[in-house]
Amino acid sequence: MVRRCSVVGCGGSVGLHSFPLDLEIRCQCLRATSVLENSQLPPGAVVCNQHFTRNSFANMMEFELGYSARLHLKREAVPTVALPRYRCSPPTLLIINLLIINVF
Ligand SMILES: [Zn+2]
Repeated sequence: MVRRCSVVGCGGSVGLHSFPLDLEIRCQCLRATSVLENSQLPPGAVVCNQHFTRNSFANMMEFELGYSARLHLKREAVPTVALPRYRCSPPTLLIINLLIINVF
């Protein structure tokens, strides 16, 4: 089975990175990729290279010169590129729904 990027609308299968173990950075990544904060991260969820800036990688130069076979993310890297346009966490959606119900 081919692993695919978990970012909504991507599905890339090259240069995949697991979500970080550091809770704070993990939450930032989940928010950025529209994976809901309160939902369980699917086992094996990954994000592909195209969602990170060049500065996010610890070995970009070595990779480009052919000394490294794959890119390695810096510990604090958060995806910021080619992400879904609209991001909303469940509490925000709930508040919006409550406001709409109360207004009308
Ligand atoms: Zn992707």
